[in-house]
Amino acid sequence: MIVVMKKSASAHEISEVITQVKEDGYTPHTSEGDERTIIGLVGESPTPLREENYNSMDGVEKVVRVSAPYKLTSRDFHPNDTYVALNGSQVGASKIAVIAGPCAVESRESIIEIACAVKEMGATALRGGAFKPRTSPYSFQGYGEKGLQWLAEAREITGLPIITEVMDPALVPMVASYADVLQIGARNMQNFVLLSEVGKSQHTVLLKRGMANTMEDLLMSAEYILAQGNSRVMICERGIRTFEKYTRNTFDINAIPVLKARTHLPVIADPSHAVGYSEFVEAIARSAVAAGADGLIVEVHPTPSKAMSDGRQSLDYKGFAKMMESVKRIAEAVGRTA
Ligand code: PEP
Ligand code: MN
Repeated sequence: MIVVMKKSASAHEISEVITQVKEDGYTPHTSEGDERTIIGLVGESPTPLREENYNSMDGVEKVVRVSAPYKLTSRDFHPNDTYVALNGSQVGASKIAVIAGPCAVESRESIIEIACAVKEMGATALRGGAFKPRTSPYSFQGYGEKGLQWLAEAREITGLPIITEVMDPALVPMVASYADVLQIGARNMQNFVLLSEVGKSQHTVLLKRGMANTMEDLLMSAEYILAQGNSRVMICERGIRTFEKYTRNTFDINAIPVLKARTHLPVIADPSHAVGYSEFVEAIARSAVAAGADGLIVEVHPTPSKAMSDGRQSLDYKGFAKMMESVKRIAEAVGRTA
């Protein structure tokens, strides 16, 4: 339930409602909009909620039942867009953020080279996995902490913030000591212990949609992070599994505007994992921006055929430069910049 205050509501009237929420056994979540204040009721309480109790209070305009199971993540609770700071820009505002880099960090020299190249071409942040979730235990698993040190060196040289995946709840503090943004991968979207840990870290998080999860599942997972008092969360559509075999996954274009409508958090698209083939990545990136995505996360490698993982979907430098050019034009067409 949310209590929408009148435009004219006084600070005293607002605080009276907050007191009532606490008395009823719920946690109040206050969102100060441009026009009015909204107080959301979070949690469970044995006290049945009576709308009329709130409706009759001074300064209250209306009481709305929220049927969605996620609360802090919901746009009902927080009508204004949340911006997430990244490299001096605000993800969720008008400029499209572009996070680029290899699937995995492969060596000190290569990550520094790629960082310099993507920066030159306009990237906002550098991606690279040091802990890789691989289907086969025999595949390259990433360089671990050494990979994080190389990423940090690349940041030092280029100034680009770094985003990298964390898979183990026990390693959150260690990964957070290097990374600017903690990535939760598709395979861990419902690792609830991990979600709570990244929430507690108060670090910026990129939460990817699980390959067989609904948008509601994704928003519930975001709720785990926000429930720890951390709202620096970007959510990411990276394609879902369908019966289609000509692509690695199926990019759910619906998710972009629907998630934007349901949540105040920025929505990022990952065209690389969504389609799985480099020749189609640019088209999917353009479609995501046209549909209202706040940013892109794209795999880039100087020689994709030699990449240690996900080479088939990685753009080379020429391909990335071309994608940046066309994304810029689409961004302008929808009233944004890139
Ligand atoms: C990745 O970003 O390289 C990755 C493993 O992504 P996902 O979790 O979406 O498969
Ligand atoms: Mn990858």
